Amino acid sequence: MSPSQTKANYDVLIIGGGPAGLAAAMALGRMQRSALICDDRRPRNLASSHMNNFPSQDGIHPAEWRAKVTKELEKYPTVSFFTGRVLKVEKSGSAFNVTLPDQPILSVRKVILAYGVEDPLPDAPGFRELWGSAVYHCPYCHGYEVRDAKLAYVGNAAMAHHVLPMLMFLTKDLVLFTNGATEIEPAFREQLKKKSIPVFEEKIASLIHEGKVLCGVKLANGQIVERTGLFVAPKIPLTLKGSIGEKLGCEKTEMGFYRVELMGKSTVPGVFVAGDIMSMQHSVLGAAASGQLAGSGAVFELTREDFEQG
Ligand SMILES: Cc1cc2nc3c(=O)[nH]c(=O)nc-3n(C[C@H](O)[C@H](O)[C@H](O)COP(=O)(O)OP(=O)(O)OC[C@H]3O[C@@H](n4cnc5c(N)ncnc54)[C@H](O)[C@@H]3O)c2cc1C
Repeated sequence: MSPSQTKANYDVLIIGGGPAGLAAAMALGRMQRSALICDDRRPRNLASSHMNNFPSQDGIHPAEWRAKVTKELEKYPTVSFFTGRVLKVEKSGSAFNVTLPDQPILSVRKVILAYGVEDPLPDAPGFRELWGSAVYHCPYCHGYEVRDAKLAYVGNAAMAHHVLPMLMFLTKDLVLFTNGATEIEPAFREQLKKKSIPVFEEKIASLIHEGKVLCGVKLANGQIVERTGLFVAPKIPLTLKGSIGEKLGCEKTEMGFYRVELMGKSTVPGVFVAGDIMSMQHSVLGAAASGQLAGSGAVFELTREDFEQG
């Protein structure tokens, strides 16, 4: 009996088929471990038409990249796909029971959580419509394409402290929208003044746009500030796309992601974590790297258990 033909249906359940889950599946497939990768098709970069900052794939369409990786995974017969949402995972002895829609309950030996994060945006009209085309989450992913444009950072002063200095290297035409009253330390306010970065502390009423092109930001007092690109601060603590980890007892950090040790191990034995839900390094390459690590972590534990029992 090979290690993957144990009583469990699969060695590993991977929840999420984004870069983290796909990379975990590849590591498992290459070690001939059976893995079921479940994905309900809500990848974080869905709104984007280009995936940047990934050596060898810079600028590719995210869907094309996912299709390429999925094709590569066909080579590994122990990797299976399920399109749909994982509804429940419960501990059962040393294994886990998994509930999928309209399927018999499955048993798996390890679980990799790779279900990504949501992007709650300011509620003013325009943010959701322009998300990924003129409203962005990350200067590394989209900054180069909008260099020298009329840019703004939308976020409180604490976040602006980190990101505004980076944006200054992309454009000289930069403003800060705090989107409502916020405490700005006098020293930071002075620095912004010295660097000629205007600060608008009114609530944003709406974004003015023509299709996917941003023209300006309308404030609650009626003022319109001409802008063509906005970077939006993440909402902390992060909003994860699921709570299966919490239900299993995984500890979280103040920032809202799961606490992990070496090789993506969560605080619950047998549960590993990868991608955006385990750190603030929110990029495709970062997620894939942590997915590979979590996949290797699961292989490591499975191998040790099988060797010791066999
Ligand atoms: C608009 C935008 C553009 C971006 N552009 C870039 C870029 O150019 N370059 C770059 O490096 N990074 C970019 N990023 C960041 C990058 O997309 C993320 O860091 C990366 O996708 C995280 O990968 P992940 O696998 O952790 O999560 P995701 O890619 O979000 O994948 C998680 C998957 O899990 C699935 N899922 C969730 N819950 C369940 C469940 N219960 N059952 C089954 N499936 C489930 C979801 O449907 C989703 O497909 C961008 C992000 C955004 C928002």
